[in-house]
Amino acid sequence: MARYSPSIQKLITELGSLPGVGGKSAQRLAFHILDMPQEKADMLVSAITTARKSTCRCSVCHNFTDSDPCPICSDQTRDRSTILVVESPRDVSTFERTHEYKGLYHVLHGVFDPLKNKSLEDTTITKLIQRLASDSSVTEVIVATNQTAEGNATALYISRLLSPSGIKVSRLAQGLPMGSDIEFADDLTLLSALNGRVVLN
Ligand SMILES: [Zn+2]
Repeated sequence: MARYSPSIQKLITELGSLPGVGGKSAQRLAFHILDMPQEKADMLVSAITTARKSTCRCSVCHNFTDSDPCPICSDQTRDRSTILVVESPRDVSTFERTHEYKGLYHVLHGVFDPLKNKSLEDTTITKLIQRLASDSSVTEVIVATNQTAEGNATALYISRLLSPSGIKVSRLAQGLPMGSDIEFADDLTLLSALNGRVVLN
């Protein structure tokens, strides 16, 4: 016999498929939602639907945005000679939080890792190369992938791809703990890693 009714079980299964949500958390969230006033539950559903429908990827930097190109790519006061390459849209918010970085971004939506069958097509690396080929104002690409084996491999791969172009490729300094995610770094650590960046090519 099923432990929960089919509709509750379905809700638990869907919530449990979210990253970082285990079985127990999924059950807790499901019962929290069922205990909510109807209008609160409707607001949650509407927030998910609206965000999903109105958000697209910026055709330039591939960050999530409500307008294409995104506000950062459209901002003519930003330094268009530098592109900071990050793994996820969350990393853009992390760097924007510091208010120090004034250049543009490129969101990879993943890392290149042939050992784990993560191919180039799983990232926007090819689109980065195309973007740089058609934009002569860029003189430096700062690779700010996470300090993990895959993040480092991706940085080296990008520097190798760009070495014939004459564009400087640099990597965030090793001030960030190995294996750590950029999004969890505090502002000071992030800024010193950015300012102490190392040239790769
Ligand atoms: Zn953009």
